[in-house]
Amino acid sequence: MTQILVSGSLTSIGVSDEFSPNTDELVVHNGRFAENFEDGDLAVAPMMRLAVVACMDSRMDIFKILGLENGEAHIVRNAGGVITDDVIRSLCLSQRFLGTREIILLHHTDCGLQMVSEDEFKAELEAELGIKPRWSLEPFADPYSDTRQSMQRLLLTPFVDAQHLRGFVYDVTDGHLHEVPQAE
Ligand SMILES: [Zn+2]
Repeated sequence: MTQILVSGSLTSIGVSDEFSPNTDELVVHNGRFAENFEDGDLAVAPMMRLAVVACMDSRMDIFKILGLENGEAHIVRNAGGVITDDVIRSLCLSQRFLGTREIILLHHTDCGLQMVSEDEFKAELEAELGIKPRWSLEPFADPYSDTRQSMQRLLLTPFVDAQHLRGFVYDVTDGHLHEVPQAE
Protein backbone atom coordinates (compact mmCIF):
# COMPACT_ATOMS: atom_id res chain seq x y z
CA MET A 1 0.00 0.00 0.00
CA THR A 2 1.31 3.44 -0.84
CA GLN A 3 1.88 5.65 2.14
CA ILE A 4 0.64 9.16 1.56
CA LEU A 5 3.02 11.67 3.03
CA VAL A 6 1.44 14.80 4.41
CA SER A 7 3.00 17.42 6.62
CA GLY A 8 3.02 16.46 10.27
CA SER A 9 3.71 12.82 9.40
CA LEU A 10 7.50 13.13 9.32
CA THR A 11 7.87 11.28 12.60
CA SER A 12 6.17 8.28 10.96
CA ILE A 13 9.16 7.91 8.61
CA GLY A 14 11.70 8.27 11.40
CA VAL A 15 12.39 12.01 11.22
CA SER A 16 12.82 13.50 14.69
CA ASP A 17 11.20 16.77 15.73
CA GLU A 18 14.52 17.98 17.13
CA PHE A 19 16.88 19.77 14.82
CA SER A 20 19.95 21.97 14.99
CA PRO A 21 21.72 23.22 11.86
CA ASN A 22 24.94 21.47 10.79
CA THR A 23 26.50 24.12 8.58
CA ASP A 24 29.16 25.28 11.06
CA GLU A 25 30.46 21.73 11.41
CA LEU A 26 30.47 21.29 7.62
CA VAL A 27 32.47 24.48 7.15
CA VAL A 28 35.08 22.99 9.49
CA HIS A 29 35.13 19.89 7.28
CA ASN A 30 35.75 22.15 4.30
CA GLY A 31 38.79 23.65 5.97
CA ARG A 32 40.30 20.16 6.23
CA PHE A 33 39.27 19.36 2.65
CA ALA A 34 40.97 22.46 1.28
CA GLU A 35 44.23 21.69 3.14
CA ASN A 36 44.89 18.75 0.83
CA PHE A 37 43.23 20.12 -2.30
CA GLU A 38 44.68 18.73 -5.53
CA ASP A 39 41.96 19.39 -8.12
CA GLY A 40 42.76 23.03 -8.81
CA ASP A 41 43.79 22.43 -12.40
CA LEU A 42 40.78 20.40 -13.56
CA ALA A 43 39.19 21.59 -16.80
CA VAL A 44 35.64 23.01 -16.73
CA ALA A 45 34.48 20.58 -19.44
CA PRO A 46 33.72 17.08 -18.05
CA MET A 47 36.47 14.67 -19.17
CA MET A 48 34.10 11.78 -19.90
CA ARG A 49 31.79 14.08 -21.86
CA LEU A 50 29.03 12.66 -19.67
CA ALA A 51 26.01 14.16 -17.90
CA VAL A 52 24.13 12.23 -15.21
CA VAL A 53 20.58 13.18 -14.20
CA ALA A 54 19.70 11.70 -10.82
CA CYS A 55 17.28 11.92 -7.93
CA MET A 56 18.43 13.99 -4.97
CA ASP A 57 18.05 10.98 -2.65
CA SER A 58 20.61 11.18 0.17
CA ARG A 59 21.49 7.48 -0.14
CA MET A 60 22.82 7.87 -3.67
CA ASP A 61 26.48 8.84 -3.95
CA ILE A 62 26.57 9.26 -7.72
CA PHE A 63 30.37 9.32 -7.89
CA LYS A 64 30.67 6.09 -5.91
CA ILE A 65 27.78 4.33 -7.67
CA LEU A 66 29.37 4.88 -11.09
CA GLY A 67 33.03 4.95 -10.07
CA LEU A 68 33.33 8.54 -11.27
CA GLU A 69 36.14 10.91 -10.39
CA ASN A 70 35.97 14.64 -9.86
CA GLY A 71 35.98 16.47 -13.20
CA GLU A 72 34.61 13.58 -15.25
CA ALA A 73 30.87 14.33 -15.46
CA HIS A 74 28.09 16.83 -14.87
CA ILE A 75 25.63 15.72 -12.21
CA VAL A 76 22.15 17.25 -12.42
CA ARG A 77 19.87 16.38 -9.51
CA ASN A 78 16.36 17.13 -8.33
CA ALA A 79 13.51 15.36 -6.53
CA GLY A 80 12.95 12.22 -8.58
CA GLY A 81 15.52 12.98 -11.28
CA VAL A 82 12.58 14.38 -13.21
CA ILE A 83 13.21 15.84 -16.69
CA THR A 84 11.91 19.34 -16.05
CA ASP A 85 12.50 22.44 -18.17
CA ASP A 86 15.35 23.33 -15.85
CA VAL A 87 17.02 19.95 -16.33
CA ILE A 88 16.69 20.42 -20.09
CA ARG A 89 18.28 23.87 -19.65
CA SER A 90 21.22 22.32 -17.81
CA LEU A 91 21.67 19.51 -20.34
CA CYS A 92 21.43 21.93 -23.26
CA LEU A 93 24.22 24.06 -21.76
CA SER A 94 26.21 20.95 -20.81
CA GLN A 95 26.15 19.74 -24.39
CA ARG A 96 26.49 23.00 -26.30
CA PHE A 97 29.00 24.84 -24.11
CA LEU A 98 30.84 22.09 -22.33
CA GLY A 99 30.86 19.28 -24.85
CA THR A 100 28.99 16.43 -23.16
CA ARG A 101 27.59 13.77 -25.50
CA GLU A 102 26.32 10.98 -23.27
CA ILE A 103 23.46 11.04 -20.73
CA ILE A 104 22.73 8.61 -17.91
CA LEU A 105 19.46 8.80 -15.94
CA LEU A 106 19.56 7.44 -12.40
CA HIS A 107 16.25 6.80 -10.67
CA HIS A 108 15.91 4.46 -7.71
CA THR A 109 13.75 2.22 -5.57
CA ASP A 110 12.03 3.54 -2.42
CA CYS A 111 11.87 7.12 -3.74
CA GLY A 112 10.18 9.81 -1.65
CA LEU A 113 8.06 10.67 -4.69
CA GLN A 114 6.42 7.24 -4.49
CA MET A 115 4.92 8.30 -1.15
CA VAL A 116 3.13 11.50 -2.17
CA SER A 117 -0.08 12.30 -3.95
CA GLU A 118 0.05 15.32 -6.25
CA ASP A 119 -3.57 16.31 -5.60
CA GLU A 120 -3.42 15.87 -1.83
CA PHE A 121 -0.07 17.63 -1.51
CA LYS A 122 -1.25 20.62 -3.52
CA ALA A 123 -4.60 20.76 -1.71
CA GLU A 124 -2.73 20.76 1.58
CA LEU A 125 -0.43 23.58 0.46
CA GLU A 126 -3.38 25.61 -0.77
CA ALA A 127 -5.31 25.09 2.47
CA GLU A 128 -2.32 26.19 4.54
CA LEU A 129 -0.84 28.93 2.35
CA GLY A 130 -3.76 30.14 0.27
CA ILE A 131 -1.87 29.39 -2.92
CA LYS A 132 -0.88 26.25 -4.77
CA PRO A 133 2.31 25.93 -6.77
CA ARG A 134 2.44 26.12 -10.54
CA TRP A 135 4.97 23.33 -10.72
CA SER A 136 4.07 19.72 -10.98
CA LEU A 137 5.17 17.42 -8.16
CA GLU A 138 5.52 14.49 -10.59
CA PRO A 139 5.00 11.60 -8.17
CA PHE A 140 5.09 8.07 -9.57
CA ALA A 141 4.28 4.51 -8.55
CA ASP A 142 6.93 2.55 -10.45
CA PRO A 143 10.55 3.76 -10.81
CA TYR A 144 11.04 1.68 -13.96
CA SER A 145 8.17 3.24 -15.90
CA ASP A 146 9.17 6.63 -14.52
CA THR A 147 12.69 6.20 -15.90
CA ARG A 148 11.22 5.23 -19.28
CA GLN A 149 9.04 8.35 -19.18
CA SER A 150 12.09 10.51 -18.45
CA MET A 151 14.03 9.00 -21.37
CA GLN A 152 11.04 9.64 -23.60
CA ARG A 153 11.00 13.32 -22.64
CA LEU A 154 14.66 13.66 -23.58
CA LEU A 155 14.09 11.90 -26.88
CA LEU A 156 11.29 14.34 -27.68
CA THR A 157 12.87 17.67 -26.76
CA PRO A 158 14.71 19.47 -29.57
CA PHE A 159 17.13 21.09 -27.11
CA VAL A 160 19.03 17.97 -26.09
CA ASP A 161 20.89 15.41 -28.19
CA ALA A 162 19.73 12.07 -26.78
CA GLN A 163 21.66 9.85 -29.16
CA HIS A 164 23.68 8.34 -26.31
CA LEU A 165 21.06 7.99 -23.59
CA ARG A 166 20.70 5.17 -21.04
CA GLY A 167 18.40 4.91 -18.03
CA PHE A 168 18.79 2.91 -14.81
CA VAL A 169 17.01 2.19 -11.55
CA TYR A 170 19.37 2.01 -8.56
CA ASP A 171 18.33 -0.48 -5.90
CA VAL A 172 18.89 1.28 -2.55
CA THR A 173 18.89 -2.07 -0.73
CA ASP A 174 21.81 -3.69 -2.57
CA GLY A 175 23.57 -0.99 -4.63
CA HIS A 176 22.89 -2.59 -8.01
CA LEU A 177 21.80 -0.73 -11.14
CA HIS A 178 19.03 -2.14 -13.33
CA GLU A 179 18.89 -0.83 -16.87
CA VAL A 180 15.55 0.32 -18.24
CA PRO A 181 15.02 -0.12 -21.99
CA GLN A 182 13.74 2.85 -23.96
CA ALA A 183 10.10 2.79 -25.00
CA GLU A 184 9.53 1.08 -28.38
ZN1 LIG B 1 14.21 9.69 -5.17
